[in-house]
Amino acid sequence: MPSSSQSALADVLIKAVSQHAATIPDKRPNHCDDKISLHDAIMSALAVMHLKYPSLLAFENGRLKEEVAHNLQSLYHIKQVPCDTYMRELIDPVDTSHFRKMYTILFAKVQRSNWLKRFQYLDEGYLAPIDGTGHYASGTIHCPECCCKNPKGKSTQYYHQLLAICLVKPGMKEVLPLMPEPIIQQVDTSKNDCEKNALKRLLEHIRCEHPHLKLVLGLDGLYSDGPTIKLIRSYGHGFIIVAKDGDHQSLIKTMDEKDAQGLVKRHEYTDDRGYRHWFRYINKVPINNSHHDVPVNYLEYVERSPKGKKFSCTWVTEIALTPETVTKVMRAGRARWKIENETFNTLKTQGYNLEHNYGHGEQHLATNLAMLMFLAFLIDQIEQLACPRFREAWHHQQSKISLWFTIRSLFEWFLIDCWYSLFVVITQGHGQGKSIRSLMPDTA
Ligand SMILES: [Zn+2]
Repeated sequence: MPSSSQSALADVLIKAVSQHAATIPDKRPNHCDDKISLHDAIMSALAVMHLKYPSLLAFENGRLKEEVAHNLQSLYHIKQVPCDTYMRELIDPVDTSHFRKMYTILFAKVQRSNWLKRFQYLDEGYLAPIDGTGHYASGTIHCPECCCKNPKGKSTQYYHQLLAICLVKPGMKEVLPLMPEPIIQQVDTSKNDCEKNALKRLLEHIRCEHPHLKLVLGLDGLYSDGPTIKLIRSYGHGFIIVAKDGDHQSLIKTMDEKDAQGLVKRHEYTDDRGYRHWFRYINKVPINNSHHDVPVNYLEYVERSPKGKKFSCTWVTEIALTPETVTKVMRAGRARWKIENETFNTLKTQGYNLEHNYGHGEQHLATNLAMLMFLAFLIDQIEQLACPRFREAWHHQQSKISLWFTIRSLFEWFLIDCWYSLFVVITQGHGQGKSIRSLMPDTA
């Protein structure tokens, strides 16, 4: 393929990740320079996930080909590719916290380039839904980081989950994940870890890594309680949390009492598409009887489509509710599903294989591989957000699945010097009327 002195964003982002990977300490005994480096093992696993290969092994089948070896060097800075077993052995003992810096380096790039501003939606901070998902479950294979449950009459089930957080904006496809918080067995307790404990660690990490980042957290009904709201406020963040009727009987009662006194406001309108929007809201009411010191603003919302289809939801929030803000808060509240749709579904069905078992290991492998997969997803999201070459190639191929299929095919058969050249060839072909045959290796 033609080489180019220009860079695509992928060249810049992957180089930055590679430079940090080279600093992660290799704790192998008898470590010497002629062994495959930890850097190469980490970048190989990232390459598998970034190229969306279904397994470490599928990737290994091509690693001895000249083209593949060349392209791993030029696109991922890998000198020597380990076999899949060795790749797992090398990544297993790495402390998961070493991957944090890769996320913050990429986030800083987004911030410095002013791309973060594209996510601005609320005056109160960047909208950041949070949700948990599982990425490993087994009845047999387990590690010390596995949580476990013993369902009645069944054998022990082992599992790994993580708590994900992404910056989102209503109406925008791209999401910007921060490093997820693993939900795994913690060393200081015999109890299983859970989403709420993970939230405490997640907020602490965000404070350390992004001290000036002001967020409005989007959470599901599990978090609409006094202690969680106090915790979020203690970090200076706002929130929009789903409040299910069944969990908030005292709040509903307060709402009805205040309504009888004429203190509850209503707002309704029909939009250009014929959707009817109805809101009922009140500011500064206690979240429940046990937490009179936790005032919240409460919003009820009902939408009716022109065909009569109904959608309803209720939220508690920090944001002052007025006729001017209720629509924005509602749209921000509904954007919480972006973490389900644009993040988890993409990671489970669009070639990233989040729930697929790349390997479990004896220390941190399962967690580390999940962190690398989210990192690959973050690289893709930044490219989609800000790389014209990537977007042109994507539009040319019409779908992401087709784009990655094409990238893998070219990766396996041609010598590629940089991501820029790869995207240009996908978009424009080799140019000058040359047929694909002229790109074939001499031996073909
Ligand atoms: Zn495990």
